Amino acid sequence: MKLKRIMAAAFAGIMAVCCAGCSGSKSAPLKVGVKSDVIGFGFKDTVTNEYQGLEIELAKKLATELGYSGVEFTAVTAATRTELLDSGDLDCVLATFTITEERKKSWDFSTPYFTDAVTVLVEKADGISDLSGLVGKKIGVSTGSTSAYNLAKAMSEKGLLGDYKVPESSKDFDISSFGEKGTKFEQFADYPAISNAMAAGTVDAFCVDKSILAAYKTEGRDYITDTFAPQNYGVATKKGSELSARIEELIVKWKGDGTIDKLIAQFGLN
Ligand code: GLU
Repeated sequence: MKLKRIMAAAFAGIMAVCCAGCSGSKSAPLKVGVKSDVIGFGFKDTVTNEYQGLEIELAKKLATELGYSGVEFTAVTAATRTELLDSGDLDCVLATFTITEERKKSWDFSTPYFTDAVTVLVEKADGISDLSGLVGKKIGVSTGSTSAYNLAKAMSEKGLLGDYKVPESSKDFDISSFGEKGTKFEQFADYPAISNAMAAGTVDAFCVDKSILAAYKTEGRDYITDTFAPQNYGVATKKGSELSARIEELIVKWKGDGTIDKLIAQFGLN
């Protein structure tokens, strides 16, 4: 009798652990890191305080399908998203987070749900129209982004930086000491700070994914004509997280059945 009770208790314990692991917890929200300033992806309406965009809708759908009680959004930047994922403050990140070989060593990524290219925003008055106009300029980029590496690569491939070639791996690229042909990068914690620096004239250009730049393209500004380094955005989870495979399965399903395409069209991203 006693043995039966012990076995029943042990079984209940195992089931509780399994269920928490297999289907999310009905009593807890899925904690998701999202952008708050990227129109169409993750944007927080300052009047309603509501988040809107493709990544917001995908996060809500993931929470429902995975059996969570809802979704809890945390605004992240390129500089903060990985730290918050590593610390367990977030279960996953849907924040224009580019899948790279280097990043795959540290986090799990789903199949891409969107692809966007990198470009550069400039003040029209400065007369810079393509990559060649950036030689000798100071370019604002975000800390924790792929932007500087990709821009240096695109410029070197066009022969604009003499014999310089970017290192094979982005982790060997030192942004702060880069200075080929006088071209320099300055890193900022967020995008409004880069935009302000460009308005103040302390940087000459602002480089990141085109979708992110859209919010800062005011009347007197324009993109250069070059776009480069297509960025595949994926859902990031902690390396080895039990969520990784379940999120992957859902993203693959929604890519196949047209759900993601519909959302892309709904937010005018195509
Ligand atoms: N998507 C790029 C990256 O992951 C740009 C940075 C950002 O997402 O804010 O590095």
